[in-house]
Amino acid sequence: MSRIRRLIQVLFTLLTNAYLLFPFGPIIYQGPLKGICHPGLNCYSCPAALLGCPIGAFQNFMANIRLSLASGVPQLGTVVVGYLGFIGSLVGRFPCAWLCPFGLIQDLLYKIPVPKLKLPEFLKHVKYVVLVLLVLILPLFWVDPVGLGTPWFCKLICPAGTLLGAFPLLLVKPSLWQTLSFYFWNKVTILILIIGWSIVTSRPFCRVLCPLGAFYGLFNRYSLIRLNYDEDKCVHCHACYRQCPMGVRPYQNPDDTNCIRCLKCLEACRFGALSFNMRSLPATPPRSLPKREA
Ligand code: SF4
Ligand code: SF4
Repeated sequence: MSRIRRLIQVLFTLLTNAYLLFPFGPIIYQGPLKGICHPGLNCYSCPAALLGCPIGAFQNFMANIRLSLASGVPQLGTVVVGYLGFIGSLVGRFPCAWLCPFGLIQDLLYKIPVPKLKLPEFLKHVKYVVLVLLVLILPLFWVDPVGLGTPWFCKLICPAGTLLGAFPLLLVKPSLWQTLSFYFWNKVTILILIIGWSIVTSRPFCRVLCPLGAFYGLFNRYSLIRLNYDEDKCVHCHACYRQCPMGVRPYQNPDDTNCIRCLKCLEACRFGALSFNMRSLPATPPRSLPKREA
């Protein structure tokens, strides 16, 4: 299963970043596919990216709301909220493990054989602050005189944007070096810290900072596909917890918001206590028949 997942991660990353004409035409692909969002974090500005970034689109939706209301011109950004909600309700955080290019990068970095560190539990809550503050509140309320907000997560933090967007752009268009500001060097510092952290701790960005993972995780409890735990079969060996890249204990809560549905715990459990399947719809109660009169 791990090999199949790795293959899907690599193939999906390559297929969704397959615009190889950028050295000859426009630097960023802006064809019709760019109107569709990638299910994972994949920078819109990457020269090879064919799809848009959902968290970038989400921030731009928030940043445009006031201008749109003031001008009376409706915007289509609500589509991205529905799109993310649709994916979340179908599969929860599944895209983080199987489809996200930055998840793949962290998985590969963690394979470097050095002593590993555990992540303090309280840090897992930081991503909700990032989601609420940098993706929702600041883009909506901190606006310029025209009424337009700023995508603060992209501007201040996004390491996927720095690695997959900014660096390749600087390579193919060196004149951009003259436009670099404090924000760029701030993001380079964050990227270096996250790369170093990913070598010693499994998926630190997904667990601590990613607003997309925070959003999808809210749906784990309700999504159509789900992880099931059978307490009768569990011998409490904790093998699943030891294998989990997200530090989840599925025997405590299989719907944990940090579970990315990678299914490593299924491979680890030798007692069949964990399974992955579709949520069954609640059985319709039998209709009561009308009483016959005597
Ligand atoms: S609980 Fe299982 S499926 Fe969820 S992240 Fe951990 S190993 Fe993957
Ligand atoms: S690996 Fe299986 S048996 Fe062991 S604690 Fe996890 S669910 Fe229980």
